[in-house]
Amino acid sequence: MRHIVIKAAMKRRIKQVWASFMNLIMPRECPVCGKRMMPTEETMCIGCMSMLPTANLEDSRDNGMIRLVWPGTKVEHGLCLFYYRSHNAHQKPVMQFKYMKNAKLARTMGQLAATVIAEYGIEKEIDGLIPVPLSWRRHLERGYNQAEWLAQGIAETFRLPVHTKLLKRTEHRRQQTRLNREERKENAEGLYRATIPEQMKGRHFLIVDDVCTTGATLSACAKAIKEADPSACVSIFALAWVGE
Ligand SMILES: [Zn+2]
Repeated sequence: MRHIVIKAAMKRRIKQVWASFMNLIMPRECPVCGKRMMPTEETMCIGCMSMLPTANLEDSRDNGMIRLVWPGTKVEHGLCLFYYRSHNAHQKPVMQFKYMKNAKLARTMGQLAATVIAEYGIEKEIDGLIPVPLSWRRHLERGYNQAEWLAQGIAETFRLPVHTKLLKRTEHRRQQTRLNREERKENAEGLYRATIPEQMKGRHFLIVDDVCTTGATLSACAKAIKEADPSACVSIFALAWVGE
């Protein structure tokens, strides 16, 4: 037993020394304020972390995010890490992993998001994570799917599988960004399809996306899973939500 404790302490120390060394030769910038981060700071600097507009939703089963889901599609839990405000500097990390090729940042944001999920204990019910799929064209342009990296960050905390093949985006349609609520619903309807319905049976999936605006994308994904097998349960998670 003592041997295991010493080994774990040594591992931790080596990790700290390595982080300090890497910080010296390759200083990391806080993705929010741009200041140099300390080796002990992971996703963002302590100052920006303390200012993060965390959502703190009271009930994961009954909140504004859940109410965005299309009627007739049952969702168990709905959660997000923080509120997305276009004028707020905390939207910068999202811009970085979405448009500036910083996929790794999505993963560390996912690790941070896992702490919120754990607060509600939702991970105990989840069998696997499904990142919102990109169209093949967008995937090719960006080189990665940021929702997949986010899901990886969450999944590795809980040792849950990430399923990237169970849900497919059927075609490339207009980007949701400039559409209003009704247009977004129309645009997202029928856009996703479950590829292996037999793998959905009785399982509980957490759908992961970066930003939730009107809930159309998450609703369309949830609907596709429920339609493939009504015995499947679905929960939704967005890193950031624009709020009510
Ligand atoms: Zn900062």
